[in-house]
Parts: sequence; structure tokens; C-alpha cells
Amino acid sequence: MTDTTGKINLLGLTQAKLEAFFEELGEKRFRAGQVMKWIHHFGVDNFDDMTNVGKALRDKLKACAEIRGPEVVSEDISKDGTRKWVVRVASGSCVETVYIPQNGRGTLCVSSQAGCALDCSFCSTGKQGFNSDLTAAEIIGQVWIANKSFGTVPAKVDRAITNVVMMGMGEPLLNFDNVVDAMTLMMDDLGYGISKRKVTLSTSGVVPMIEKLGQVTDVALALSLHAPNDELRNQLVPLNKKYPLSVLLPACNAYIAGLGEKRFLTIEYTLLKDVNDQPEHARQMIELLRETPCKINLIPFNPFPYSGYERPSNNAIRRFQDLLHNAGYNVTVRTTRGEDIDAACGQLVGQVMDRTRRSERYIAVRQLADEQAGVTVPTNRR
Ligand code: SAH
Ligand code: SF4
Repeated sequence: MTDTTGKINLLGLTQAKLEAFFEELGEKRFRAGQVMKWIHHFGVDNFDDMTNVGKALRDKLKACAEIRGPEVVSEDISKDGTRKWVVRVASGSCVETVYIPQNGRGTLCVSSQAGCALDCSFCSTGKQGFNSDLTAAEIIGQVWIANKSFGTVPAKVDRAITNVVMMGMGEPLLNFDNVVDAMTLMMDDLGYGISKRKVTLSTSGVVPMIEKLGQVTDVALALSLHAPNDELRNQLVPLNKKYPLSVLLPACNAYIAGLGEKRFLTIEYTLLKDVNDQPEHARQMIELLRETPCKINLIPFNPFPYSGYERPSNNAIRRFQDLLHNAGYNVTVRTTRGEDIDAACGQLVGQVMDRTRRSERYIAVRQLADEQAGVTVPTNRR
């Protein structure tokens, strides 16, 4: 919580932690609520702006605390309203945050780690390796920065950020405590007040952490499946060797069951030409997901140099979708590329994330935004 300045950063503290902080200072716990509103609703980072906090307490806070988000390296706003921020975190690495407005909703795609250790074969972030975990302040700081760019909460009739997906860089379940604290702040009314159904954690399948997640939160869950059998999934998502489908699916089913009625697992499936896009794969998937209340997002592979994979033809994508759809699944496909977003890329971005990587996030997030738009009950629910 403290850093090189030796001060405690209040940005990443949940209400419970901030109350404990004020208690330790010998102050009343209700101060936490006051300060949280200043930080998260009004985007304030200066204690002197907190007009309902007395001067003596402000001075006390200034001496031991700070409100500090990650450094914004660049901010781009595209013609269609999409916004992108590249932010630098304490480790020196940069990560990206993307905001996508669509049909009255605004989805923010947030990063949890700089790089990723899991090395999925089709993912360029994975190819980059792991650099660092983001702190809770650096994760919620991405929401804080984006929110500030739309003006403060009371000024807004409609909230600009209605959905958050943990689908940026990194595996959120491998940075568990910081991600959970940040998601708690996203959902807290003293934070960003986003519904639990509209905060989505996407994972490649860290089974023990899925179980742990169910004990501490009730956010929406997305599983990056990408293959309907262990042999193939071992190749695409190496983590599958540790947590095969026979333990992964039951863990996801248990998580969803724990959420109660009308909650679904989102299945993400990146379609790779001639690798996992054949009718046989669709048929296996139909069997595999029989007991899972789910919605399926097909993500046509977004190529990057030397990946060794290709995007399937539109016909192959449609054939795959039709097979799942005819079996009763709710399936969405999104192929639109964020061309103008790519065009807006700055050079600094290239140091940490190339154009291809940004597009693939864009596609995946757009798709999830689509999927969250219509909550229809899949006919495969049994
Ligand atoms: N680590 C987590 C969350 C970040 S990755 C996870 O794996 O779920 C989020 C999504 O990015 C993945 O589900 C995958 O669908 C998508 N993705 C990664 N590389 C991609 C690529 N080259 N083309 C299309 N989607 C990709
Ligand atoms: Fe990591 Fe997700 Fe990329 Fe796999 S797909 S390497 S888990 S970021």
C-alpha cells in the first residue's frame, strides 16, 4: 500500500480498509465514506479540495497519505467514441485500458497485470511474458482515469461506464487480492456503483482461484475455453495441463450456481483456422457445455506476426456458430475490427503492446459488450 514516497495510497483501498486506516489515525470511520466520494465520484487527488474535511485532518492526511493513479502516457479518442489510455505502472511497464461505447452502454476493458505468465499460444500478451502484478490502486486507477475523462458523477445523467471487463492484459486470478479489491470498489456505491452483473472477470482457468473467487465476490465470470477437449486445450492454453476440463468446468458450474438465478458463464472461444473451428469441435463443445448455463462468444482470431495461426473464413465461422446455435446455445460472433482505433496508436504504445494486440482486445471487449446487451435465457439450460 505504501510506495517510494512512503505514503499510503488511498486510491486502491476498499471501504473496509479505508475505515481501518482512519481508525488507526485516531479518526472516525465515517471519514472513509466522505473521502471515497471525493476520490471516486469527483476524481479528486488533492486533500485540500475535500471541503467537508477540516483543515487539521487534511494536514494529517497530507503527511501520511496520497491519492495517486497510474501515470497516463497517452489518451486517444476515436471517431466512434472509443477511448484508449496507455498508463505506466510502478514497475515501469505500460498497460492499456479501452473504453467502448455501444447502444447506450459503455464498457471499460481493464488490465490486471503487465504481461502474462500463462503463454496461451494465440495470445500476443502471453508471448511477451510476465512483467508485474498491478496494485489495487493501479487497477481501480484505470477506472478512475476513465471516469474522470467523462466529468464527475453528479454532472452525468447517464453514467458513461456501465460495464467493466477484466479482459485487458494479464490473468486476473493470478493477481487475486488486488483484483478483488479493485472489483469491490467498482461495485461499491461509494466507488463506481456498477452492478455485479456488469463487472466481468475473464480467466483462462485457474481452478483453485475460481473456487476462492466464489467465496469473496459475485461478479460475472467469463471462461476462455478455446478448445472442447484436453488434448487441444493443452496446446492452446498450457494451464490446461494443470487444470484440465474435468476439474475446470465443474469449478465454473459451481461458481455460477453460487450466484443464484439467471446467471450465466460467458464462454470465450477464439476461432483458429483448421485448429479448433471444425464441425467436430462444435459437436464436442455442445456435449461439453450441456450442464453449464452459458452464453458463447466466438472471437475470430486476430492475427499477429509469427503467431502461426490464421483467422477462419467467414463461412467457417458461420458454420461453427450455426452448429452451436441449432443445438440451443446463445452464440454471438464479432468480426468488426477497430480500424480507427488502430490508426490512433501512438509510438509509445508500441513499446508495450503492438497494434494487433490492441485490436484483439477491442474485438473481445466489443463482443462481450454485445453479449451483455441482451440477457436472453439460453435454450440449452436444463
Ligand atoms: N487472461 C484472461 C483475460 C485476458 S485475455 C483470459 O485469458 O481470459 C482476454 C481474451 O483475449 C481471451 O479470452 C482471448 O479470447 C482474447 N485474445 C487473446 N489473444 C487473442 C487473439 N490473438 N485473437 C483474438 N482474441 C484473443
Ligand atoms: Fe494470459 Fe489470457 Fe493471454 Fe492466456 S489469453 S496468455 S491467460 S492474457
